Amino acid sequence: MSEVTIVGAGICGLTLAIAARGHGHRVTLYERQEPNSAADNGAYLTMSGRALADLDALGVGDTLRTTGIES
Ligand SMILES: Cc1cc2nc3c(=O)[nH]c(=O)nc-3n(C[C@H](O)[C@H](O)[C@H](O)COP(=O)(O)OP(=O)(O)OC[C@H]3O[C@@H](n4cnc5c(N)ncnc54)[C@H](O)[C@@H]3O)c2cc1C
Repeated sequence: MSEVTIVGAGICGLTLAIAARGHGHRVTLYERQEPNSAADNGAYLTMSGRALADLDALGVGDTLRTTGIES
């Protein structure tokens, strides 16, 4: 197991954190913004089927479907 430090909890940082943890690494994730600040600002992200397939492979696709809006 190795230590992985990630700066930025955007979609890339979060995805990398889940993937690295899934491979047995210890992950420390730093984010400068307060939690949910993007949601508070009304921001959202449209995701393609390919992106959802990748998130399914990481085991978080169903959580996203539950909290997101399917169009
Ligand atoms: C208005 C708008 C609409 C968009 N709509 C879509 C869309 O519908 N679909 C789509 O696929 N893409 C969309 N995009 C693009 C998408 O948002 C980006 O491609 C994606 O968010 C990039 O992810 P990221 O994790 O690389 O970076 P970011 O989402 O920018 O995340 C980087 C994170 O790092 C943090 N950070 C930076 N520096 C530091 C530091 N020194 N210390 C701690 N934390 C730090 C930031 O606070 C941020 O949370 C949109 C972009 C914009 C601006």
